[in-house]
Formats: sequence, structure tokens, C-alpha cells
Amino acid sequence: MSLSNKELIERDLRTLWHPCTQMKDHEWLPLVPIKSGKGVWLQDFDGNRYIDAISSWWVNLFGHANPRINQAVKHQLDELEHVLLAGFSHQPAIELAERLIQLAPAGLTRCFYVDNGSSAVEAALKMSFHYWLNCGKPQKTRFVTLQNSYHGETLGALAVGDVALYKETYKPLLMEAITAPSPDCYYRESGESWHDYSLRQFDSMAELLRKQADSVCAVIVEPLVQCAGGMRMYHPVYLSRLRSLCDELDVHLIADEIAVGFGRTGTLFACEQADITPDLMCLSKGLTGGYLPLSLVLAPDKIYQAFYDDYSKLNAFLQSHSYTGNPLGCSAALATLDIFQQDQVIQKNQHLSKKLRDATVHLNDHPHVAEVRQQGMIVAVEMVKNKSARTAYAWQERRGLTVYQHALKNQALLRPLGNVCYLMPPYVINEEEIDHLARVLTEGIDLATKE
Ligand SMILES: *Cc1c(COP(=O)(O)O)cnc(C)c1O
Repeated sequence: MSLSNKELIERDLRTLWHPCTQMKDHEWLPLVPIKSGKGVWLQDFDGNRYIDAISSWWVNLFGHANPRINQAVKHQLDELEHVLLAGFSHQPAIELAERLIQLAPAGLTRCFYVDNGSSAVEAALKMSFHYWLNCGKPQKTRFVTLQNSYHGETLGALAVGDVALYKETYKPLLMEAITAPSPDCYYRESGESWHDYSLRQFDSMAELLRKQADSVCAVIVEPLVQCAGGMRMYHPVYLSRLRSLCDELDVHLIADEIAVGFGRTGTLFACEQADITPDLMCLSKGLTGGYLPLSLVLAPDKIYQAFYDDYSKLNAFLQSHSYTGNPLGCSAALATLDIFQQDQVIQKNQHLSKKLRDATVHLNDHPHVAEVRQQGMIVAVEMVKNKSARTAYAWQERRGLTVYQHALKNQALLRPLGNVCYLMPPYVINEEEIDHLARVLTEGIDLATKE
């Protein structure tokens, strides 16, 4: 007998505790148990289908059950499923490190494996602090972050983030970060360019960093798009200025490319658009094409060498997770890189990204849309109560939820962040599917902003 949505929902709600969820909502908001996926489509146990417009929380790049990635993981599964990475090594980890170092901004020559995004951020923070300690600068203990940034939800990562929803409750547990104003161009004056606004916002960063550089290990940023903060975007000039300033003041620049890496912003890595090399770069999410939890930190030789010493000095970097550099994850990542190369994905995405723009540009004229913004394969639509004053809807009204519910009834998985609706689809989406998403999105926004 085949299972139904109803049966699985009942069993789920008796035992599971879901992430980022007020479980009581599920008294009236049905869970969606997914049976299978193929390409951009997900299918539930009653046979309903949904286009995965948000790439399953920004991880999927080349569709669900991608034949090429499946093949690579199956092959690896019969060879070696896992082995510890201390004292031991394996071919997929070595090959992946070699290839990423080739592809990453010049100068990043060491790959430190972890197993999820937040842990990669934790590793980068510890690595930066420990580097300065090993260099005889123990007074460097603080981190600078941008307003509205998100770097994950373990305590260290949460501490350098600034999204109130995730952070506020746990504040008493967190180290104190230094928060600089964001270059987020949503707040630019009318008539002001992204370039000019981001540059203007840089002044506050410069002032703050010049005062406190002696106690600062690193500045951590999400290059170009603050994703969890509502897909807020800024100009690459901010990153190039920040790179020079960090060099001048002896402060590390950590690029958290966990969400924006692997083509999301139009280039393989977002940092490329500012032509910079960060000191540490965190990768995860799209790294495995959305298949398996894997993450890593790329570092330059200079940082690596500061840890390379006689054992008795006790200078080695100390961080280890059980599933560090898992071979199955690495094999999925290698297959993902093959697809980028063989299919000329970055080039082809230019066409898809133009299609995304054309399909959503009409929303600029919507009476309750403040702006439609785009960065490569991410399009975001900001719903507002008052268009000219850009007054936000109160969060309690949960307008985004109306869009979510409307989409589910119409073959689409959209999951707005508060009042911000967005499309961030797998790169295997076609034009008709984009048109479908744009239509559902428009109807959803009409419905959500009706009164
Ligand atoms: C998702 C995300 C993280 C955290 O990754 P997890 O694997 O969910 O822990 C960190 N930084 C950014 C920018 C992210 O989008």
C-alpha cells in the first residue's frame, strides 16, 4: 500500500521537531512530505508537484536526482563511504582541494575541510584569531561584521551575524562583535547609484576599523548579497575598498561565500566581481550541488605557515568534526565542478539570469513593491505597505506566508524571507518554468498585499 501525505504528516508531527519552525503552526499549516525529486521538480506523496524555486534552502544547483552527480556518489559509495581525515586521507578530498584551489581567487592555496556552513564560519573565526596569537598578537580577539549579516546559527557564527530573528533570543550566550553599517543598497537615496551608496557606507567602516584595528582579528562579510537578511545587495566597490583597508590595517578579510559561491551572483565566486582575494573563504551549500553536508575554508600560505611548527610549540590549529571532508560529499562536489566545466554553466546562466529579470521586471510597477533587485541567479522582490515612503509591513502580518501558501497550491515552492519574496532556482530550470514561477509569484504578491 502506498503512503499518503496525511499518514506521513501525522507520523512526522508525533516525532519530529523541525528547524526554524513554530511547531504549533502545523496545526493549520500542512507540512509537505516529499517522496521524490527530479530536476527542478519535487513530488509529494499525493502526487502534487512543486518547482523548487529556492533550491531547497539555496543548496541545489543542478536539480534533484541529477544523473551525473548520482553516478559519482554511487561509484564512491562502493569504494569508500567515509574515513577520518586526521592521519589519513583519501582521493576525493585531495582532488577536490586541488581543483578548488585552481578555481578560487589567486593566493588561496590551502583547503581545510569541515562538514556544514556554520562550522566553516567557526573554523574561519578560530583560524583568524589563532593566526594572530601565533604571530604574537594575542590582543586581537574581536570581529567586525556588517549590519543585517548572517553567518549561521552555532554560537560563534550567530555572534558575528546580525539578523535579529535568529540572534536576539540567544544574545546572553554570545561573544560581542563590532557591527558596521551595511552597504545594503535598498537604503540608497532616490537617484543615487549602487556604487555611490556602497562607497558612502564604506566611510563608517573605515572610521570604525581605523579606531579598533589593534583589537580586531577579522572583518567577516557575505560578498555582494546578504541572503538570509532579505536578499539585500550591494556594489563590489565596497569589497575592493575593504580589501585595501584590511591590508593596510593588518586585519583579515573573511569572505563567507556559503550562499553566494558557485555561480549564484553570476561569477563562480562573488569575490571575483571585486577582483579581490579574501584571507579566508568559507564554502558550503552549492559545493556538493545540494547533495550532502560538506564545507571548507580556503586559506593562503601565509596563514598556513603561521601554524606550521614543531609539535612542542602547540601551535597547530585545533578543530575537528567527525564527518570532516566526507568522501561521498567530496565526490558529489567533484561531479558538480565537472558540470560547471563541461556545460559552461557560468556562461549559460547569463541567459537564464536575463530571463529571470525579464519575467519579473513588471513587478517594479506593483503598488506594493518597493523594488525588484537582482544579482545573477537571485531575484528578490520587496513587498511594502507604502511604496513611496517604503514603509514595511509589520512582521506580525506574515504577508510572505500568503505567498508561500499560494505557491504551494500552484506547483511552486517559494519561501519568502519576511516581506521579501525571491527566486533562487537550480540552474537547470527552463524558460517556461521561470515564466510559471513569475506568474505564481505575481499572483501571490497580489493576494498578500490586497488590503
Ligand atoms: C546558510 C549560511 C550559513 C550556514 O550554513 P549551514 O550549513 O546552514 O550551517 C553561513 N553563512 C551564510 C552566508 C549562509 O547563507
